[in-house]
Amino acid sequence: MTYQTVNPATGEVLDVYPNTSDEELGTLLTRAHNCYDRDWRHRAVEDRARVVKAVAAKLRANAEEYAQYVTLEMGKLIAQARGEVQLAADILDYYAQRAADFLQPIPLKERPGCVVETRPIGIILGVEPWNFPYYQLARVVGPQLMVGNVVMIKHASNVPQCARAFARLFDDVDGAPEGLYTNINASTAQVAALIDDPRVRGATVTGSEKAGAAVAERAGRALKKSVMELGGSDPLIVLEDAPLEAALDNAVWGRMNNTGQSCVASKRIIVVGKKRGAAFLDGLTTRMRALRVGDPNDPATTLGPVSSDSALKGLLNQIEAACAAGARVALGGKRVDRPGFFLEATILTNIDSSNPLYTQELFGPVVSFYVVDDEDAAVELANATPFGLGGSVFTADIERGRRIADRIESGMVFINHPTWTAPELPFGGVKNSGYGRELSELGFAEFVNRKLISVSPAGSPPPSVSQAG
Ligand code: NAP
Repeated sequence: MTYQTVNPATGEVLDVYPNTSDEELGTLLTRAHNCYDRDWRHRAVEDRARVVKAVAAKLRANAEEYAQYVTLEMGKLIAQARGEVQLAADILDYYAQRAADFLQPIPLKERPGCVVETRPIGIILGVEPWNFPYYQLARVVGPQLMVGNVVMIKHASNVPQCARAFARLFDDVDGAPEGLYTNINASTAQVAALIDDPRVRGATVTGSEKAGAAVAERAGRALKKSVMELGGSDPLIVLEDAPLEAALDNAVWGRMNNTGQSCVASKRIIVVGKKRGAAFLDGLTTRMRALRVGDPNDPATTLGPVSSDSALKGLLNQIEAACAAGARVALGGKRVDRPGFFLEATILTNIDSSNPLYTQELFGPVVSFYVVDDEDAAVELANATPFGLGGSVFTADIERGRRIADRIESGMVFINHPTWTAPELPFGGVKNSGYGRELSELGFAEFVNRKLISVSPAGSPPPSVSQAG
């Protein structure tokens, strides 16, 4: 992996950054461990909150600079990059505000004198992707720091400036000790070595199934807890009774936000009923054709580049293979004739169950469009991939929407809304989309010691033999 900045809007290589050496990694690991063991784990929650809030405030104060790094390195539209900066700050603030509640001891009603306390466990290693370069970090950093853990982050190799900028948020923050947050330009072998080290107590990955499997396997062998936030191919089901225009607007947002490079993008649009299907395809085509390709820094642009040359080539290969297997291009399908890594807004139809695309994830501005006869067929199709991250159902009948939501195999279902994210909403999937949750109280509880403290009166007799564990 070469850590470098390549502007996806031009294809230009702008900067190359050195990998962290083994020696330096050893020093950083020791520093992180000392920070955890001698300082951070012992701090009062109010103390931790002051630091995390100050980091969030620094992010907000430098929002424009931070948004620019995102647009430069992964091509996000500038308005969306600004939105991501705010969301990342909101997540940090959320955990700073809520941690005291989440850390309350839980008394065991069935056992007077017994409580479960929530305690930190050590260094948590995060392996993170480029698609939301700050949001993904905030999802790990907010809960981990507030619970008393410290973090080491291996960010994606194509967003080194975002990674360094996030690490700088901790510099000169009153009360933030060295080693609290560590950014490393690590190789795959160094990630594995960190997982093996006894001072690292957990690993979390947001990324592809391949990266997830590699880290989860290593963590499993070392008997470390892991959380996996992996790929998805979310269905967006539109029923006959859903208000059409609103469903179309939501579908376009759901699919095209972040140039389609979101794990929870509405990658498969499934419309129930032939007549409704034809009307929906018509409206979708009109809306997607109207997207304006251009410089992601130009506020008039509504379709930016994908993140890299290899991402673009991968998408073109998937489209070609899908078409060779019988899919039809209803819109787009080609590279845009300009420098940089631009793909036309694309709609593919006629994808049958033998098509490789039927079960794949498309990580870019491409809709897989399906029309089915009824609700049962929609649910069957929704569940027909190895993934189970999010999903949406659009209907005027909320109870029917709930029934369908219950049948979709995924970690999240939104009725009359595309899948999205907020600090208080638990985020994560089932099947190959991974395990564990980020955000909300559930995300807070992933890397903790739920420690039982049992108090018996002084002078209590030993348990009888039949009660021993
Ligand atoms: P990726 O290749 O898996 O990269 C993600 C991170 O994993 C990067 O930091 C990458 O480092 C690292 N990595 C890759 N292979 C590794 C290995 N063997 N050992 C240790 N680290 C490794 O993911 P991507 O293709 O860029 O990102 C898109 C995927 O992420 C999609 O499938 C998407 O759905 C998923 N995603 C999921 C969520 C979620 O919350 N569920 C959110 C966003 C994205 P390098 O950059 O140095 O290769």
